[in-house]
Amino acid sequence: MSATIIDGKAFAAKVRAQVAGHVARLKEDHGVTPGLAVVLVGEDPASQVYVRSKGKQTVEAGMASFEHRLDADTSEADLLALIDTLNNDPAVHGILVQLPLPGHMNSDLVINAIDPAKDVDGFHISNVGLLGTGQKSMVPCTPLGCLMMLREHHGHLSGMNAVVVGRSNIVGKPMAQLLLGDSCTVTIAHSRTRDLAAVCRGADILVAAVGRPEMIPGDWVKPGATVIDVGINRIQHPENPEKTRLVGDVDFVSAVEVAGAITPVPGGVGPMTIACLLANTLTACSRANGLQEPEGLTA
Ligand code: NDP
Repeated sequence: MSATIIDGKAFAAKVRAQVAGHVARLKEDHGVTPGLAVVLVGEDPASQVYVRSKGKQTVEAGMASFEHRLDADTSEADLLALIDTLNNDPAVHGILVQLPLPGHMNSDLVINAIDPAKDVDGFHISNVGLLGTGQKSMVPCTPLGCLMMLREHHGHLSGMNAVVVGRSNIVGKPMAQLLLGDSCTVTIAHSRTRDLAAVCRGADILVAAVGRPEMIPGDWVKPGATVIDVGINRIQHPENPEKTRLVGDVDFVSAVEVAGAITPVPGGVGPMTIACLLANTLTACSRANGLQEPEGLTA
């Protein structure tokens, strides 16, 4: 039996359309335009692609997009001064500093300089603490996108056994917090976990955020489980060594035969990440203006 494919591309388009609808109403009813500032330091090619895509989708949603491109040798003090300006700019509701930063900068210091209310990546230590204590926060975009897909597919997640493989601050840990917030019984697995196969086989919901191509085979998946594959790994194309292709952390071909539902790579979690960035910017703008937050777009 083949699993239901959770179409992240289609769902992300739906979320973006929802965001655009709210943005149009904010403009019309309140004269407010949500604004997202993206800061890119240096010329990392992958980061440039992400930043371009974020800017394009921000404008398509009807929001204002502010791009700040700084040279790789920009001083940390100059970056902090820019963040201070953006923190105090009322037209900017969301600030995203594209990671990774050049080696001479302290990423934690930079991220924690962002006003937590404008921290649409949800990486500021205050937002991490708020999420951990079940309070209203800005939630990291990738785990938020995973949660939205799970809620859409299952309705509610209460009582389900969830296993998150990976414990990074960006994906694994916030994902686990969100699943706990939705009353799952949560296990976080990592590189030191004993008998990872057995741990994964206990999961009704299996989230893979490891960064190792096709590491989780189908026989680690409980029959009927929902598999969310966060991994994005570029590998050599099996038929054409000159080309590459993207694969997840889960071996899709074997897992799709066992799972009840599964996200593909590409076209699963990836598109949801930028959609959630837009949703977070809208949420931040609504909060900043004392307006009701859009339903279904936050945790
Ligand atoms: P990190 O490298 O920060 O974390 C990887 C985690 O996987 C670590 O906790 C590590 O454990 C664990 N791990 C590594 N090897 C194993 C193993 N053999 N068995 C069990 N656990 C293992 O990665 P990220 O969380 O940043 O990203 C994970 C993946 O998600 C990557 O492929 C990344 O590209 C992708 N990603 C996708 C996004 C999207 O938009 N779709 C956004 C962000 C990331 P330990 O802590 O013990 O070292």
